[in-house]
Amino acid sequence: MKITGKGPLVNGIRGCCPRCGKGKLFAGFLKLAPRCEACGLDYSFADPADGPAFFAMMIMSFPVVGFALWFDAAFSPPWWVHLVTTLPLLLLLCVLPLRPLKGWLVCLQFFYKAEEGRLAPQPSDRAAPAKPASDLRSSG
Ligand SMILES: [Zn+2]
Repeated sequence: MKITGKGPLVNGIRGCCPRCGKGKLFAGFLKLAPRCEACGLDYSFADPADGPAFFAMMIMSFPVVGFALWFDAAFSPPWWVHLVTTLPLLLLLCVLPLRPLKGWLVCLQFFYKAEEGRLAPQPSDRAAPAKPASDLRSSG
């Protein structure tokens, strides 16, 4: 299968189809479209779960907490000032990257063919069921 477009990072950040790079990946802010309008790729394989939220929190919490600590040490503001500065900053910096992160993770899922793990079939599953010993005896 030929993958066109600019690769999983660029296609994901732009919210484009992981295969053709032309169709839209999203039907809402974070809701995925059912399929690509350009090439017809079914997006049912896509399930990044909590991945975008995890990465957004892990990446953005460090600068925001650093800002809060610096702000508190430098100005010693009352607690409500943090409520109107640090909290909106934290929410903004955690919500805004969700869409590009989700697009990137979905494109990575397609690119690396990542899917849910399955148990390998056992050799006994492939062999024909053994006949009971009573069937092997001749009746005579
Ligand atoms: Zn497409």
